[in-house]
Amino acid sequence: MAGTGENGLDLVLAQPRGFCAGVVRAVDIVERALAKADRAVGDPGVYVRHEIVHNGRVVADLTAKGARFVEILDEVPDGATTIFSAHGVSRAVEAEAARRGLPVIDATCPLVAKVHKQGQLYAAQGRTVILVGHAGHAEVEGTLGRIDGEVHLVGSVAEAESLDLPADTTLAYVTQTTLSVDDTRAIIAVLARRFPDLVGPETKDICYATQNRQAAVRALAEVADVILVVGARNSSNCNRLREVAAEAGRPSHLVEGAEDLDRIDLGGARTLGLTAGASTPEVVIAEVIAALQRRTPLRISTLPGVIESVSFPLPSSLGHT
Ligand code: SF4
Repeated sequence: MAGTGENGLDLVLAQPRGFCAGVVRAVDIVERALAKADRAVGDPGVYVRHEIVHNGRVVADLTAKGARFVEILDEVPDGATTIFSAHGVSRAVEAEAARRGLPVIDATCPLVAKVHKQGQLYAAQGRTVILVGHAGHAEVEGTLGRIDGEVHLVGSVAEAESLDLPADTTLAYVTQTTLSVDDTRAIIAVLARRFPDLVGPETKDICYATQNRQAAVRALAEVADVILVVGARNSSNCNRLREVAAEAGRPSHLVEGAEDLDRIDLGGARTLGLTAGASTPEVVIAEVIAALQRRTPLRISTLPGVIESVSFPLPSSLGHT
């Protein structure tokens, strides 16, 4: 890590940062399923379809505890407990699991499931649905596969401008939960201008955790010279945090862990801001801070911000609510 002086750094932490309620619930589901499977003689194991949340450390820790991660249901042996990740799955995946009689525990975040229901409702009203989101993301694949009829994926203002539908189409939109609030607002503004009969939940589909973390990193950008976002490269909400910080005019870097610090040039920064996405475990944040401390003296503080108290009940099949 270049650019740190011997006088050290002010390290300012964003509030909130790290795990959200949907991630806590999803990880808890896998751990409880593993504990239950351990007790059952001859149990074929616990399989998770897709990374339970987008973070390599979370996946590695659960793998060490006995969970197996697969991308397709064909890799799940008959009878094995099958967990759907927090991002949700399409109806086709759900139907395939049911056809095979797999015992499923659904770790889809309740806020993602809410978007599914909203999209289904709009489709039932006869509206053509637009999903504002990023192609290829697991949540988007799941949501696309949950809504009947015509669904169009729009990922940018340019795509909203070029969407090839008649201006009088009866439309509704839903959004991915982890988008940039500002980008989404811009996309919706274009859609509303082009299609007068458009309804939707504004940016309310973007979940509370995403909104709070983006507001916090914006506040961080007001006091920090450089911002580090701790999180995985395939995490949508971590990437959006880095973009929001960059749009606020601060050099910002996504770091997966302490090992990434060596490639970062702080450019003489005196105040370093640090945040973490909703899928980043606290232990990784602590490791990054400890690694910074080994390089330079730190004066650590936390910005005032929202104290979250959201929690989601576990599926009743795990015996807890
Ligand atoms: Fe749920 Fe939001 Fe967390 Fe995604 S980021 S798991 S939608 S609470």
